[in-house]
Amino acid sequence: MYDVTLIRNDFPILSREVNGKPLTYLDSGASAQKPQVVIDAITQAYAQEYSNVHRGLHYLSNLATEKYEGVRSTIARFLGVRDEDEIVFTSGTTEAINMVAYGWAMPRFEAGDEIILSVMEHHANIVPWHFLRERQGVVLKWVDVDVNGDLDPQAVLNAITPKTKLIAVTHMSNVLGTVVDIAAITAGAEEQGVAVLVDGSQAAVHMPLDLDTLGADFYAVTGHKLYGPSGSGAVHIRKDRMAEMQPFIGGGDMIREVHKDSVIYNDPPMKFEAGTPGIVQQIGLGVALDYMMAHGMDAIAAHERDLCGYARTRLDGLNWLTVQGNSKTKGAIFSFTLDGAAHAHDISTVLDKKGVAVRAGQHCAGPLMDHLGLAATCRASFAMYNTRDEVDVLIDALELCHELFS
Ligand code: PLP
Repeated sequence: MYDVTLIRNDFPILSREVNGKPLTYLDSGASAQKPQVVIDAITQAYAQEYSNVHRGLHYLSNLATEKYEGVRSTIARFLGVRDEDEIVFTSGTTEAINMVAYGWAMPRFEAGDEIILSVMEHHANIVPWHFLRERQGVVLKWVDVDVNGDLDPQAVLNAITPKTKLIAVTHMSNVLGTVVDIAAITAGAEEQGVAVLVDGSQAAVHMPLDLDTLGADFYAVTGHKLYGPSGSGAVHIRKDRMAEMQPFIGGGDMIREVHKDSVIYNDPPMKFEAGTPGIVQQIGLGVALDYMMAHGMDAIAAHERDLCGYARTRLDGLNWLTVQGNSKTKGAIFSFTLDGAAHAHDISTVLDKKGVAVRAGQHCAGPLMDHLGLAATCRASFAMYNTRDEVDVLIDALELCHELFS
């Protein structure tokens, strides 16, 4: 039985006040709050179990290594991946996509080769591909979303030409909340020999995943949105793609032997993990994923579906507010603008005075903002700990904005 009151008690920050009001945290799409078990695990790791990993033969190093490496199988289980050696630890999605861009795409792509992107990508899934455009003459091809904010998988597949090497696409938009039909894209892409990279930063938080059947070549997630520490994350890379990939960062840990005129790399996935990693961050992420799985991803998704249905009804009742994105597959993200002159930053400042935390701005999605013809939006994003009462608090605060700015 999913009990959101009990879940809220697990997150100490949710009981604090902001500006003299109870905190209504609706910015989990930017970064989620952490349950006490994660905070305790971080403290325990530093207080009792800390050492560098992989290198030492002493007790603490072995203990830290065991805990840290154990997270690989937790992430694999969470993502629905059978082979944990297909999981590469990263500091988050940004590093993951750069790793694929530098390690897999750059050595393989030539001038004129094409990468297909959707217009609703986060900058983390745009800028690394611009590097290839600038440095190697790779062509970026953009696929628009329709008026509802949906991305038609067939439109993505129709953009493929003999020059297409990669489709890089989000699983869930961080602005519109649209959930993309990745399976339809991977099925069509594989037939034509085109690789697919999926930015799972938002999707992984809200739905059960089975990456072994989803069929993407690369799938990136970021720990701080998954109720884990910042600086944690992972990318799932299919074995055949891993074999094609060069290391992105060189240094200790990713090598087996180094000589004056040669190096022998470690076996994957460690071949792609150089230097002292985010040891405690990944340990914290493992605990966060266990916490989510204990509650059940289906149960979390069902709770959020109910909450989002309620939020949608309440927001639709405000005829001076426009919600961006009407996809039938819209998840727990609502970006909106107020009709009239009020800027998103002013709205978020008023909401903040009421203890309501939302995000305002471009949301690192410049091409989508251009497509929508908007300079900025406010974004309320929901998580496993939010409630209908908090939706009501948001609506009351928005009504105050309307009074102030109309
Ligand atoms: N992709 C999406 C869809 C995001 O929402 C974010 C974070 O906001 C990122 C990528 C970047 O994640 P990180 O900064 O954790 O690497």
